[in-house]
Amino acid sequence: MTLPDDFKQCVDFHGHVCPGLVLGYQATRFGLEWLREHRAEDEEIVAIVENDACFVDAVQVLSGCTFGKGNFIFRDYGKIAVTFLSRNSNRGVRISLKPDKTPSDPKHRELFQKIQRGDATEEERKEFYKLHEKRSTELLQKKPEELFNIKEVEMILPPKARIEPSVICDECHEPTMKSKTLEHHGRILCKECAQAISGRGE
Ligand SMILES: [Zn+2]
Ligand SMILES: [Zn+2]
Repeated sequence: MTLPDDFKQCVDFHGHVCPGLVLGYQATRFGLEWLREHRAEDEEIVAIVENDACFVDAVQVLSGCTFGKGNFIFRDYGKIAVTFLSRNSNRGVRISLKPDKTPSDPKHRELFQKIQRGDATEEERKEFYKLHEKRSTELLQKKPEELFNIKEVEMILPPKARIEPSVICDECHEPTMKSKTLEHHGRILCKECAQAISGRGE
């Protein structure tokens, strides 16, 4: 099958085709479509992802919400879910994987474990990547509403991170955002140095 252009952009960024990337692609398209139907397009969008795996690379590429811009928030819940919010209205939509829609193939899982342990043969490796690709294609052909639940949400976001002047850490002498430093026995320390010093029991 020929891959959609916007999916190819996700693959270029991520480095390979995999089921997680496909799910991120599907969830993001689903969420952005909902927002366009319900909200003005020029409102600033924020993404809140609930895992830090392949999924989130597709979210960043398609939504333009990126780690570096500060409109990409990670919550470590271990769920295949993402919320898209409008910063102006604090309203948005959460997309989460339906419970039984992606049963994993036992053979696929077994091969994956072998590869992780480092004792897969070349043959098994090839078989794994074939199954991996087959599964990705299957997921890509599904309609997003078959895979995900979608629900409107309201959420108050923390204010945007501001750019602030740096101060110099008294230990490592590296410039550090002032709000991220700590005071320790009258010295200004970056978190890394503060942790090292308290680790030494000083
Ligand atoms: Zn991946
Ligand atoms: Zn330091």
